[in-house]
Amino acid sequence: MAYDPNNVFAKILRGEIPCKKAYEDAHVLAFHDIKPQTPVHVLVIPKGAYVSSDDFGANASDAELAAFMRAISKLGRQLGVATGGYRMLANHGSDANQEVPHFHVHLFGGRPLGRMISAKT
Ligand code: AMP
Repeated sequence: MAYDPNNVFAKILRGEIPCKKAYEDAHVLAFHDIKPQTPVHVLVIPKGAYVSSDDFGANASDAELAAFMRAISKLGRQLGVATGGYRMLANHGSDANQEVPHFHVHLFGGRPLGRMISAKT
């Protein structure tokens, strides 16, 4: 699947639409989800143009891959959920109902999350 530069996260990266920023470095941007499903619900995205986790894992540079995981760790601490716990989730493709075709990891936390898939407010 080719990258669509008009997806909503590409527009956020270009500053064409606003976001509530949680973290930024040279390779990574994180911002609060517009429809949070938990008290803490942040989206972590690479600044590079990657469609999904499949694309990112296959084609991102080592520096981008490392920065991404470092950012998630920093965010967990910064958002105050590293001690209590949080969940990372990435949807890839239609079976996973991926809505936005720019790779992103959801970081859920701020309350007990139950087992695996269930994530309600
Ligand atoms: P996914 O189904 O994994 O592609 O998730 C896409 C997520 O992006 C959903 O949780 C949406 O609420 C979120 N989202 C869509 N548009 C925006 C936006 N402009 N700002 C923040 N989050 C957004």
